Amino acid sequence: MADGVGRLPGVGPKRAQDFAKLGVESIQDLVTLWPRRHVDRTVLTPIWQLRPGVHATVRARVEAAEMRFPGPRRSYLKVRVADGTGTLEVTFFHAAWLKRQLVPGADVVLSGRVEAFRNRLSMTHPEVEVLETGQAPRLGLIPVYPLAGDLKQRFVQELAERVVPRWAAQMADPLPEMLKKQEDLPERAWAILHQHFPVNADELERSRRRLVFDEFLRMSLAVLWLHRTEPGVEAPALDTANRLVSRFLDGLPFQLTTGQAGAWEEIRRDLSDHRPMARLLQGDVGSGKTMLAALTMVSAVGSGYQAALMAPTELLAEQHFLLFERLLSPFGVTVLFVTGRGRDRAALKSRLASDEPLVAIGTQALVSEGVEFGRLGAVVVDEQHRFGVRQRAQLGAKGLFPHMLVMTATPIPRTLALTLYGDLQVSQIRGLPPGRQPIATHHVPMKDRRDAYLKVMESVRQGRQAYVICPLVEESEESQGRAATLLAEGMQKIPGWRVGLIHGRMSAKDKSIVMEAFRDGEIDVLVGTTILEVGVDVPNATVIVIEGADRFGLAQLHQLRGRVGRGQHASECFLLADPSTPEGEARLKAMVETQDGLKLAEHDLEIRGPGEVLGVRQHGVAGFQLANPLKDLALLEHAREVARAILTEDPELAHDVHQGLRTWVFEALEAALPGHVLH
Ligand code: ADP
Ligand code: MG
Repeated sequence: MADGVGRLPGVGPKRAQDFAKLGVESIQDLVTLWPRRHVDRTVLTPIWQLRPGVHATVRARVEAAEMRFPGPRRSYLKVRVADGTGTLEVTFFHAAWLKRQLVPGADVVLSGRVEAFRNRLSMTHPEVEVLETGQAPRLGLIPVYPLAGDLKQRFVQELAERVVPRWAAQMADPLPEMLKKQEDLPERAWAILHQHFPVNADELERSRRRLVFDEFLRMSLAVLWLHRTEPGVEAPALDTANRLVSRFLDGLPFQLTTGQAGAWEEIRRDLSDHRPMARLLQGDVGSGKTMLAALTMVSAVGSGYQAALMAPTELLAEQHFLLFERLLSPFGVTVLFVTGRGRDRAALKSRLASDEPLVAIGTQALVSEGVEFGRLGAVVVDEQHRFGVRQRAQLGAKGLFPHMLVMTATPIPRTLALTLYGDLQVSQIRGLPPGRQPIATHHVPMKDRRDAYLKVMESVRQGRQAYVICPLVEESEESQGRAATLLAEGMQKIPGWRVGLIHGRMSAKDKSIVMEAFRDGEIDVLVGTTILEVGVDVPNATVIVIEGADRFGLAQLHQLRGRVGRGQHASECFLLADPSTPEGEARLKAMVETQDGLKLAEHDLEIRGPGEVLGVRQHGVAGFQLANPLKDLALLEHAREVARAILTEDPELAHDVHQGLRTWVFEALEAALPGHVLH
């Protein structure tokens, strides 16, 4: 690549690889690698002037540093620093690696909240920068960048300082001058530069407003553009009262709840129309969304069409496959499991491409990997918030406009839904099936961990089953899997326990063997990773233990807890943790206090922001990098109006002043839909 980051002095192949993990390949990517936040280091305070409760920055010298081990697997680093006016005690948890840098004599800059303990001033986990000999501390609003691999904060900061100012000036500004004036927006180059290096908070905010507006405007234009091409397309009008539907309903061991019945009425109205349905079905964990997926698909098959169900993970797809096979094959409905591999793939593909009515279940691979459907009438998407405009457009590009139902346990505000999915209708399942008991949720400090497991033992003795979720280690499924393996090995030694293990790195076949053994009651305790997070449904499992619970997001904890409380037996959830951050503590408290997914989502927003709420950690929401669609809602709505006005005035973006926008929007569409030329 001509503008690859590898071209920059100081960036060799290893660092280029680390940058690639952050999504940074070109120099332009680096220029828009936004700081996660800024540390306010506008003034240095001498230690004698520090007051408890305030945030301050101190320059000092390390006098002593010592690792302490108060318990098994617990350690912290205790450091004493002094600046000639006083001394300060500093504590870092889990920070053995810092010990090498914080040696006596090292010059450091520390930023954090000042605390007082037994009359001594202290800081816990401050920002720390170790100065090299003769190096001056940096002051001002210091950008803090996301890191990967061996990249060091200081290195990225200095690289950004060298690169951003020159390259920002060369980046295109797609907005027409008139629009900038009308919206009081600064130039894009200015905004980019000041996102990295603002002089004060006002500049940072003004820069952010411009960049967020850009993200929203681009997204809105792209969505509206796609929809512009859709009028005239038709979905099959399905017969939702066909014989298959009524036989299916009659065969169910229960009645639909009022909430399910209400949502079904709304869905059927859409399905029986030629306008392709685009409906978001929201319902808390355990509310019975799968039943509506079934009804939608049965309507299609009973009307002579195909239906597809997509799940976020292969594990869940397989669970759905087994369930639907059980539910539907008694009525002679063909249910196929479509994975990315497998020997019979060719045969499978030709069946899908025929006009045989059937149900196909798989992951997103169902639409993206060269799979053709002969007669697709309905698509159901389970728990996949990132599925939206893009996948609809992928289907559209194949000339398919089926009815589409997107199911989620996470409440999404309507405006956001509109922006992510286009013209989406929303249905809600209110309430849970009858007989559900609240899940008794306990926060258990690590010293009482044994007690939690004694409770598990008791339930197992009574014939119930349990999940044990391993802590997130470095946010990676791989290391979480290793932790799970260790934990399972330990538990297998407990007499009378049949322990199973499941994690993402196991083969699909092994995963499903374990899952089925658990479902059949041949395993008492299933130790696993977050791949158990969504959808898994084993009503006899009544206990879930979540290790290191403070490390999980609230939406995730709620989903995990939702794996129990799915049957008639009382269920319990044990959150094991000694939270090391106020956020972690707040999440545990929220979990103990409420079971209501909606309330938890609101909490989550307060505590963590929307990436977490939407279950798309780290990736940004729907391609947004700076924008926070929930918090910036007003700006989002406004950008959508601006986009609408632009396209009303110039539907083809053909005007000279719109050429920048046109290229920009087409780049976004091309990135979302590679290989499809859209006009
Ligand atoms: P979710 O909304 O989390 O996807 P599921 O569809 O998996 O929930 O349903 C959870 C459990 O509730 C399943 O075991 C399912 O069989 C059961 N269930 C669904 N609908 C009803 C109902 N109307 N009455 C009783 N149980 C139901
Ligand atoms: Mg579900």
